[in-house]
Amino acid sequence: ETITLEQIKETIKAKSVELLHLQFVDLEGILKHVTVTTEQLEDVVEGKMMFDGSSIKGFSPINKSDLYLQPDLSTFAVLPWTQEEGYAEARFLCSVKNPDGTLFEGDTRNVLKKTMDRAADKGFTISVGPELEFFLFKTDEKGYATQEISDRAGYFEPSPHDLGERVRLEIYRALKAMGFTIEASHHEVAEGQHEINFKYADALTAADLSTTYKWVVKTVAQKFGLHATFMPKPVFGINGSGMHVNMSFFEGSENAFFDPSDELQLSEKAYQFIAGVLKNVQSFAAVTNPLVNSYKRLVPGYEAPCYLAWSASNRSALIRIPAKKGLATRVELRCPDPSSNPYLTFAVIAEAGLDGIEKGLEAPAPINEDIFHMTDERRAELGIENLPGSLKEAIRELELSEFAYKALGDHVYNEYVSMKKAEWDSYRTAVHSWEIENYQSKF
Ligand code: GLU
Ligand code: MG
Ligand code: MG
Repeated sequence: ETITLEQIKETIKAKSVELLHLQFVDLEGILKHVTVTTEQLEDVVEGKMMFDGSSIKGFSPINKSDLYLQPDLSTFAVLPWTQEEGYAEARFLCSVKNPDGTLFEGDTRNVLKKTMDRAADKGFTISVGPELEFFLFKTDEKGYATQEISDRAGYFEPSPHDLGERVRLEIYRALKAMGFTIEASHHEVAEGQHEINFKYADALTAADLSTTYKWVVKTVAQKFGLHATFMPKPVFGINGSGMHVNMSFFEGSENAFFDPSDELQLSEKAYQFIAGVLKNVQSFAAVTNPLVNSYKRLVPGYEAPCYLAWSASNRSALIRIPAKKGLATRVELRCPDPSSNPYLTFAVIAEAGLDGIEKGLEAPAPINEDIFHMTDERRAELGIENLPGSLKEAIRELELSEFAYKALGDHVYNEYVSMKKAEWDSYRTAVHSWEIENYQSKF
């Protein structure tokens, strides 16, 4: 939907909006913002707001640090939790521009836009429905996160076990007021784990919604004395949090992945998309699964994938084809986690799919057995490979990947690789509690 400046002005007046937050994300997808007053609206929408790019992770060097924010009008939203009598705040998500007005290539929103342009050149629009899971932890007297999980409930359990119903209701209300179409909300499998689903959208909108969702979930949880985390594996021994990405390509109003005459009702392009994702996933795992901690989720037994296979229904497979067909035909990639930058995550997945379509790659046969309980021999026999086992392995794949370089562009690729190498090095040299527990008294 498009919204005009006039309509925004009307809302600002009607809702007594006084402050405007100009938001964007850094290389990791972490939300940043600068606040102005509504009197500055005209200047701001003309892209006159400057900031120091050298203070943002992965942006610009100190000698070329001036960057500009270009608000995207369609992302305008009044923030429900700020509203009181005669006062409110609103926000815009922004693109980052260079002083000469060109798009700044270190802005990951711009990376995704380029992918969407490339898809459009091939006649496709990219539709994305992400599913972001999160945990709620209790906080201490100072408001800091503790290690204590907020409840003991499990999958689909109602109150009195689910202690998150109230906070999920408030999150739902806030998201709805900000323009989300909410489809479902539930307690997830793990203790203290939740999921609220919103309707699919074009790739950029879906990434904007994901970014906003994470911010709203954390903000509302805090009002309940809770800490929401999108860390992929906060607790050993129970499920971690994924961000399944449901993707389809549309050609006009037709779903290009749907073919009613096929056994699984999938088109040739859908199979090629699957093949492209399987071929490139090892090289983009450092994007979709960016943290040291991400690889502690990708182990057998917790509904998270670790083997490269696809299936129509198998939740142990990396790629699943949800039962809904027709316009809703889509491919669900199960490895991404919600700590990833959604702009980059959607970009690399779409680029991998496009790669498969362009090269006419052939998908391997689907695997309908439970892969978690297969022997190593059986997996080898079926030619099933693994996702990278650690951030170190994933960085190695990323460094060798021409595909990832092209998908991310020079600036983001180089900054991303060096950021991840530094992160791995910091982890590699730290002494962890596991080492103390296992070695201190024994040796
Ligand atoms: N929490 C699981 C994961 O780590 C996914 C559970 C589900 O199928 O929703 O991906
Ligand atoms: Mg789930
Ligand atoms: Mg799912």
